Amino acid sequence: MNFHEEQTLLRQRGKKALLVCLVLTFTFMLAEVAGGLWSGSIALLADAAHMLTDFFALSFALFAFRIAEKPPTLKMSYGFHRMEILAALANGVILLNVIVFIVLEVFKRMLTPVHVQSGVMLLFAGLGLLVNLVSMRILKGTIGGNLNLQGAFFHVFSDMLGSLGVLAAGFCIRFLNWPYMDSLAGFLIAGLIAVGAWRLLRDSVAVLLEAAPSHIDLEQLENCLHEVKGVKDIHDLHVWTISSGKESLSAHLDIEKQANTDNILREVNRILEEKFRIFHSTIQLETVTHSEHQEHF
Ligand SMILES: [Zn+2]
Repeated sequence: MNFHEEQTLLRQRGKKALLVCLVLTFTFMLAEVAGGLWSGSIALLADAAHMLTDFFALSFALFAFRIAEKPPTLKMSYGFHRMEILAALANGVILLNVIVFIVLEVFKRMLTPVHVQSGVMLLFAGLGLLVNLVSMRILKGTIGGNLNLQGAFFHVFSDMLGSLGVLAAGFCIRFLNWPYMDSLAGFLIAGLIAVGAWRLLRDSVAVLLEAAPSHIDLEQLENCLHEVKGVKDIHDLHVWTISSGKESLSAHLDIEKQANTDNILREVNRILEEKFRIFHSTIQLETVTHSEHQEHF
């Protein structure tokens, strides 16, 4: 199986896994909202809010997969792959809003404590944990290097930790009589969400700013191109990510006047594909050194 077929298969599997997790998450989210209102627990409501963001995250991820499959056109020449990255960015922003909501609610409760029914809390947190564990198992096998699926998995994983937090808080309230544990757990869940939000924002913004992908060693890449017979120098080298697993490269190569340009291009493309998994490149060959021939980024 070649690299492209492998990526397509991973996406197919990812889509199925996402759909199952989407249904599971939505169903349980509704149950948890009911449980949160019934018991009066902010930790449980925070967990439900987190699950709602999971639901959005999974829906975005699925939607992004669908739209990324649309073929490129003359105008949208890169296709719609970046939708995956935009979905990841939108998720990050939504998560930030949820954090603000939870933290405000926790502060309100510090001023006016609310009675919490710990039995209901324990029941729903236990069920939530089960749903998260099942979702994690379904998604785990499909992630690969896909940013979209990584984001979805991280949501479910942090939600699992959240359910653990609610369970622990429920125990403390019921058996140790520590009512503040509910607010504390809510606050910790907000912290968990913050970690997920930060990772999503950092990675998606890096792609949108055309940062070179972190798994490609640019120095090594430059050295490899230098070693190609007939290449004297390299400038204006850019490597960027269209979407997870789809890297592009452009470069100017100073070559010797008598060099065989076909051989140089063939060798450069071979190195890029085999060593660096870059399947889309634009190479400009130059026989005259002219460092200021166009505006350089
Ligand atoms: Zn140039």
